[in-house]
Amino acid sequence: MQKEYVFKEKSDLGHYSADAFTVRCVDDRFWKSFKHFIASLGYEHIDPKSPAGGAKIFASPEFESDRDFYVREIEKSIQLHHVKRVMLFSHTHCGAYGGIARFHNSEEKEFAFHREEHKKAKAFLKKKFPQLEIETYFIDGEGIIRTQ
Ligand SMILES: [Zn+2]
Repeated sequence: MQKEYVFKEKSDLGHYSADAFTVRCVDDRFWKSFKHFIASLGYEHIDPKSPAGGAKIFASPEFESDRDFYVREIEKSIQLHHVKRVMLFSHTHCGAYGGIARFHNSEEKEFAFHREEHKKAKAFLKKKFPQLEIETYFIDGEGIIRTQ
């Protein structure tokens, strides 16, 4: 059967090892700083995921089955792309966390809350995957802060 391309671009079909499995919120406002941060680290390949809330999927999932799904995704990335590092992100004014209103417009309270979420997410993943390096990050309007 004839393939009719709507867009043409070559893709490298070779296997790769991923420098990181990344989990960031779907929110497009922080996509650029995330992308530039990854590039600044010199990473060539990542396995990127973007559930609403980012790190929330491991810290405070809406459903336990959501978290289970992402655990299986990490297992696949380990198996297929030899992942050794997981990078979890969450961000300021995140709708999945109720926005800044939830914190009475206090970015300080918001940041403290996210740090706790990061601890929870990291503890969960460390138990499941003791061999993995788990890093957590918070993104705001100025850039990215490593929290763990
Ligand atoms: Zn968000």
